[in-house]
Amino acid sequence: MGEIALSIDVEDWFCVRNMGQKISFSEWNHCELRVRKGLDFILEELGRRQVRATFFMLGWVAERCPLIVKELESGGHEIGSHGYNHQPLDWGNPNSFKRDVEKSLGVLSAQVQSPIEGYRAPSFSITRETYWALGILRDLGFRYDSSIYPVRHPDYGIPDFPAHVTQAEGIWEVPMSQVNVMGMRVPVSGGGYFRLYPYAVTRKLLQKAQKHGDVVLYFHPWEFDDSQPRVALPPLKKFRHYVGLSKNRDKFQRLLDDFPLKPVRELLH
Ligand SMILES: [Zn+2]
Repeated sequence: MGEIALSIDVEDWFCVRNMGQKISFSEWNHCELRVRKGLDFILEELGRRQVRATFFMLGWVAERCPLIVKELESGGHEIGSHGYNHQPLDWGNPNSFKRDVEKSLGVLSAQVQSPIEGYRAPSFSITRETYWALGILRDLGFRYDSSIYPVRHPDYGIPDFPAHVTQAEGIWEVPMSQVNVMGMRVPVSGGGYFRLYPYAVTRKLLQKAQKHGDVVLYFHPWEFDDSQPRVALPPLKKFRHYVGLSKNRDKFQRLLDDFPLKPVRELLH
């Protein structure tokens, strides 16, 4: 029976790829910081059940809110890097990627006592086209990456990538989870899929996925903040960002009650 890791990508509502054409990085300073609203909910629910998780910190958020990392670390959680400014890898090149990760490590290493072992790319943007990123992460000293989604999606994914923890380019890769349903790879890793599926479906898919190995779940603080500003997005982006927000806190509580969860690094044996 596989184990389930819980990861949180700590970013705010305006950092998301779906917002990229509406809110540029230069405008972030003028947006309302709301990251604590979702994060406080997550931490309260985890604390109540004594669950520890991995928090992939966006460097920009850690810089703006330096108390977050200290609080997470004192709670026994794992701190990883989510890069600095959330630019998907396919918008840049190996040099800009390396500079972004180094900048995030600069911010985090001043705040964290223990070494940063894990990295999660913005919007799962390590694909066949940006596969060079794994070697850069290895050279920067990361022990693992958790960014590859082995499914077909218009913005990301390596559909034929191994479904479970594996070595790739000299670094551990902890891919997002999916299950085979009638020959199709169905994502079951959290985020928008968790908001979209009824909870009973998620629970069944997770139980099925666990029979085949370890599972990784991801969430974002803004997914638990139903009062966040509504941005006029194109229909598909609007659906992806806002679907299921109002019921998500309740679903998350049920998930925590039903499954034992642990930090991502504890899947590496
Ligand atoms: Zn992100």
